Amino acid sequence: MTSGTICIDGTWSEAGDGRTIPVLDPSTGDEFARLSRGGSEEVRRAVASARRAFQEVWVRTSPIERGRILRRLSDRIAEEHDTLTDLEARDVGKPRRQAHADISALARYCEFYAGAADKLHGETLPYEPGYTVMTLREPFGVTAHIVPWNYPAQMFGRSVIASLAAGNAVVVKPGEDACQTILAVTRLAYEVGLPSGVLNIVTGYGEEAGAPLAGHPGVDHISFTGSPATGTLVQQAAAKHNRPATMELGGKSPQIVFADADEEDLLPTLYNACIQNAGQTCSAGSRVLIEEARFDQIVSELAARFEATTLGPADRDPDCGPLISARQRERVEELLAVADADGLEVAGRAQGFDGLPEGGFYVRPQLLAPVDPGHRLTREEIFGPVLVATPFRSEDEAVRLANDSEYGLVAGVWTADGGRQMRMARNLDCGQVFVNCYGAGGGVELPFGGVKRSGYGREKGMAGLESFTRTKTVALRHG
Ligand code: NAD
Repeated sequence: MTSGTICIDGTWSEAGDGRTIPVLDPSTGDEFARLSRGGSEEVRRAVASARRAFQEVWVRTSPIERGRILRRLSDRIAEEHDTLTDLEARDVGKPRRQAHADISALARYCEFYAGAADKLHGETLPYEPGYTVMTLREPFGVTAHIVPWNYPAQMFGRSVIASLAAGNAVVVKPGEDACQTILAVTRLAYEVGLPSGVLNIVTGYGEEAGAPLAGHPGVDHISFTGSPATGTLVQQAAAKHNRPATMELGGKSPQIVFADADEEDLLPTLYNACIQNAGQTCSAGSRVLIEEARFDQIVSELAARFEATTLGPADRDPDCGPLISARQRERVEELLAVADADGLEVAGRAQGFDGLPEGGFYVRPQLLAPVDPGHRLTREEIFGPVLVATPFRSEDEAVRLANDSEYGLVAGVWTADGGRQMRMARNLDCGQVFVNCYGAGGGVELPFGGVKRSGYGREKGMAGLESFTRTKTVALRHG
């Protein structure tokens, strides 16, 4: 039996000073686990372990073998699907069917990057006569991964697994509110033959463990997912040593509905894109722009869905679970109080539910409509189950409203007009556009990332694998 949640050089331990962090079940507010509270010393040891493992073992492991290890990991995750689902549901307060989908996605990330590991290659380049010039695609060495609590399993897949497949050794600082599946999958990775020290975990608070990791000179690349404010701190720390970074920050992603939109799938997709994970999804479709002619009809049908929402503990598999913590609930309630004070109309709100555990962090999902495009609730990321709706009159206005945001992560466009579909896709200022569909958080194969305050760099798909490598140009003069 192992103890502690810090994993360095393949060995689990407590923090050096023995301090721990309580982990609460968001559905009940009860403590159900403790995390070791790592700090600078654990980060120093983890980075040294990753460096050694990279230089002595991982760099000499063929891409084929790296892929085979990840393939075995994918299979083990599939075998443990139910156990991991229960863990993710309890830890994040996520309805069970959503947690189930997240574990499927994690297994798929391992499968995808297992298959891609031996397909990364450089190029030969046309140059002067008498030369052969090529680019080699190489891993960075040691990559750091600072991830949040909202999708621990999926974050691990898209960031950590991709980096391992590319040939890096990694140090992970998981979110302190929820990371049980990251710990469980790390154990499985070692069980299926990952060499010691290639994957290191330092659990702890952001300021104590995340900050020293971001500023460590032994880290060659940083992948950060979290809030824009913390992202700025991480970039400042990385800049001290001029290290590259990928920033996956927040969003206020619009779904744009034209009057000619097909009914099929529209309403459930608009609803789910907001309600998924209780709205705690960076790419949540958290504002909906609706062409004036259909505004009242769509708002009223959506409102009915919000009113019918079931809210409850993760294990009852409701439509919407609790928020992650009391702090997160306070943030959402503060914004709802602003909406109330400003007289925003609640078009639909989930009913109160009997029998909700008293200590859980629940917020009743709601639709606010109409909301002015300049209002705080249209502009700020709420990170809760709250959808705002705004009418528009023309395609130009829809583009202007959609792009009039500090953020630019994802957008959804709903229209039957083929020309408009492509014009909108080109004119929207964001990293992903879905037409007549929406994939909040989905799409292992699809490059994902933002523009503007939503960040930069891409994860997922082949672009994500390439993000964890650098090219080296080799020019050979042979006459
Ligand atoms: P957060 O920024 O507070 O925390 C994210 C991670 O950073 C955690 O592991 C935390 O411990 C760590 N951290 C905190 N302070 C740090 C510091 N000074 N130095 C280094 N690390 C530090 O964000 P959160 O509250 O956990 O998550 C919510 C936010 O994350 C939302 O804004 C959401 O949109 C965003 N998010 C973005 C994506 C994406 O892919 N774009 C995905 C999930 C969440």
